[in-house]
Amino acid sequence: MATTSVQSQLNQQVLQFLSKPKKILIDGKWVDAVSGKTFATLDPSTEEPLVQVAEGDKQDVDLAVKAARRAFENGPWRTMTASERGRAIWKLADLMEQHLEQFAELETLDNGKPISVARAADVPLAVDLFRYMAGWTTKIEGATIPISVPYTPGAKYLSYTLREPVGVVAQIIPWNFPLLMAAWKLGPALATGCTVVLKPAEQTPLSSLLLGELALEAGIPAGVLNIVTGFGETAGAALAAHPDVDKVAFTGSTEVGKLVLQAAAGNLKKVSLELGGKSPNVVFSDADIDTAVKGAASAIFFNHGQCCCAGSRLYVENNIFDQVVEGVSQQAKKIRVGAGMDPKTQMGPLVSHEQLQRVCGYMESGLTEGAKAVTGGKRAGTKGYFVEPTVLVNTNPKMKVVQEEIFGPVVTAIPFKDAEDIVSSANDTVYGLAAGIWTKDISKAHQLAAQLKAGTVWINCYNIFDAALPFGGYKQSGWGREMGKDVLELYTEVKAVCTRIG
Ligand code: NAP
Ligand code: MG
Repeated sequence: MATTSVQSQLNQQVLQFLSKPKKILIDGKWVDAVSGKTFATLDPSTEEPLVQVAEGDKQDVDLAVKAARRAFENGPWRTMTASERGRAIWKLADLMEQHLEQFAELETLDNGKPISVARAADVPLAVDLFRYMAGWTTKIEGATIPISVPYTPGAKYLSYTLREPVGVVAQIIPWNFPLLMAAWKLGPALATGCTVVLKPAEQTPLSSLLLGELALEAGIPAGVLNIVTGFGETAGAALAAHPDVDKVAFTGSTEVGKLVLQAAAGNLKKVSLELGGKSPNVVFSDADIDTAVKGAASAIFFNHGQCCCAGSRLYVENNIFDQVVEGVSQQAKKIRVGAGMDPKTQMGPLVSHEQLQRVCGYMESGLTEGAKAVTGGKRAGTKGYFVEPTVLVNTNPKMKVVQEEIFGPVVTAIPFKDAEDIVSSANDTVYGLAAGIWTKDISKAHQLAAQLKAGTVWINCYNIFDAALPFGGYKQSGWGREMGKDVLELYTEVKAVCTRIG
């Protein structure tokens, strides 16, 4: 591991974890990539490598899928009782909680996010998700169904449905909430009795690897959870196309989501997609302005804007536009930008050089096309992938900064006239992931909520997540819902059983 200025502050167990090259998990064993290749994962605040990680590709994916298939068809996972499966998942959650500090530090080192946020949000939410899903194992039920069958008059039937695990599942996840995205995917797959091959993002593999170690310790049988680290174009593409994978669950860009869908067509595997967003956040003049200003700032600047549901289009009613823009800009200026391991940091670096270029490219394009930065608008410093929290005004609906997902701490503030005007503006996007509404008029809020094409609508709050609340997108923001009981449908098949009894 390269010597970094933060190394001395790190937990001993984290240092130990980073002292050894990271391997792939197949059939309960940690192995090198078949090719022997490795790649470095970086600390985005220093641009220094943290540790070498095995670079899995198609050959490793084949082995991992084989292990997952064996574990699904023959292993104890499917035959153990639902209660036993639930206890193993709960135990994993307990172990994660015991390793909270380790997870938080790995997440901060690998992704760049503030350690305070990793401790308070990423890790506890992931633990809670596993506990919530552990509770579902014993409640995945079919139904008894009265049938009439007009062409067999007088016959009697007993008909019921079973909900069975879909099988071997490929899960491809992004870098913005590495551990939490792994939990969102693995929780329901394990609860329903599926087996998994997980591919973490190349930028942030570390917390998934620690999770793999703890899953074995929790007694989740060999082959149930396999983890192949590597690149999207090789390992990810091989998983999406694999003929022996029954389902692929993907979170990431809409562009790659479409590639995953095409690759999945080969064997018509089931597909669920959690993709990008360009979420409208609407502030009415009758809102509590102070709360709305703080909420709007947090909606875009939380996790450095690297949230699929970031409130990136801020719509403000005409008569309070200047006041709200000024307030959000003041909030932006107050944000302490720095290395995530510094406990005082409120915003860390972007995850990679690629993201830095992408976000700076969007800011430049907006400014060139005539937008004005009330605050921010450029990179911060020269080392580490830091950018300034940015508020843009004077945009028009055609600009790239208004239409496309930036995935950085950049908000476009846009005035609107009235409740009618806002519906068409808010829905004027190919995305439909989330939306925010700030008003004291609760009837107006719910009327607008019904008209917005978004999978989640937050009223007088933003970025509120809970394991019990489904999350996912309308339009090009995705297919299916994660979390809540809705997600169980993505990981189960329904079997109808019909018996003639008279
Ligand atoms: P991405 O390319 O869509 O990556 C997401 C995951 O897909 C990663 O594990 C990636 O692997 C993998 N992948 C890449 N190409 C693949 C392929 N051809 N087949 C199968 N898997 C593939 O996202 P990104 O490049 O990390 O970020 C780009 C943009 O995606 C962001 O700016 C943002 O707009 C969006 N994004 C959205 C979310 C969300 O939660 N909705 C999260 C992250 C990013 P590698 O990382 O190893 O390449
Ligand atoms: Mg990294």
